[in-house]
Amino acid sequence: MTIRSDTPSAIGGTPLIRLRRASEATGCTILGKAEFMNPGGSVKDRAALFMIRDAERRGVLRPGGVIVEGTAGNTGIGLALVGNALGYRTVIVIPDTQSQEKKDMLRLMGAELVEVPAVPFANPNNYVKVSGRLAERLAREEPNGALWANQFDNVANREAHVETTGPEILEQTGGAVDGFICAVGTGGTLAGTAAALRAAKPGVAIGLADPLGSALYEHFAHGELKAQGSSITEGIGQGRITANLEGFRPDVAFQIPDEEAIPVVFDLLEHEGLCLGGSSGVNVAGAMRLARHLGPGRTIVTILCDSGTRYQSKLFNPAFLRAKNLPVPAWLERGGGIDP
Ligand code: PMP
Repeated sequence: MTIRSDTPSAIGGTPLIRLRRASEATGCTILGKAEFMNPGGSVKDRAALFMIRDAERRGVLRPGGVIVEGTAGNTGIGLALVGNALGYRTVIVIPDTQSQEKKDMLRLMGAELVEVPAVPFANPNNYVKVSGRLAERLAREEPNGALWANQFDNVANREAHVETTGPEILEQTGGAVDGFICAVGTGGTLAGTAAALRAAKPGVAIGLADPLGSALYEHFAHGELKAQGSSITEGIGQGRITANLEGFRPDVAFQIPDEEAIPVVFDLLEHEGLCLGGSSGVNVAGAMRLARHLGPGRTIVTILCDSGTRYQSKLFNPAFLRAKNLPVPAWLERGGGIDP
């Protein structure tokens, strides 16, 4: 329990929590890395810090400069927190489909928000492309310049997990880890953590947990980048091989529908006191699939990406769940009230 010298230094070093019911159901030890405990509340704090430190080292982010990024929200929150601590403004381009809670959080942290319609990557108005163009313009206009963080194709993102997440898992398990699995947004977490684990433990099984609407499961399972269906989860799913995914191959890939992932989120809340977002449900459901694939007695690690409070208006909203044909847990229907 040491003193951290500033907020960015408090990023990482998150606990590994044994998930009792997932472990009992599979006969394996399933461990969740509690990334929601980072100062910005998500796994993306790590990538934000590494991208900023890398840009400072390369001299492309100067004191008083502006950081520009296209993000589903969590990377933006991470960049804003590190930016505030180190003296950079942040300009965040976000698709309007992302949760109100994440947009509110970005605004209250002082990030300058640009909301754009959600359109595919191939469209020039896609949020990632808008953020790249905006960064180019601000680089010319701003006295101290601007940096496009470019998390999808900036491998400082993946490096954060090679340098921190992977080694932390190895240290916390004493090297006794048989499998690792998570979903992909940029691919930084999966490819980076996998690289660190494989370097130390060549036999470790690396799994991809892919939501519907993502093209990666088809790519790794059948060699074709093809998406079908959709998911209410945010921050995950990918239609292309980002720079962070280049050279990476999982040992096994699973497609995890919302009908499987969302009940896991509710189960973890109701029985283990963990309030998590939808991508954590995909990850834990994926860890259970990997456990069954490998057989009992193994230790499998996954990522608890962020907190359910970030999705209260969707994931924990009975009307939203019903509209998506997803089960509504009894305690949400009751609303938690008791007559005095
Ligand atoms: N879960 C959530 C909630 C996220 O915001 C993200 C990042 N977009 C991920 C998972 C995926 O992480 P990565 O970008 O490292 O693949």
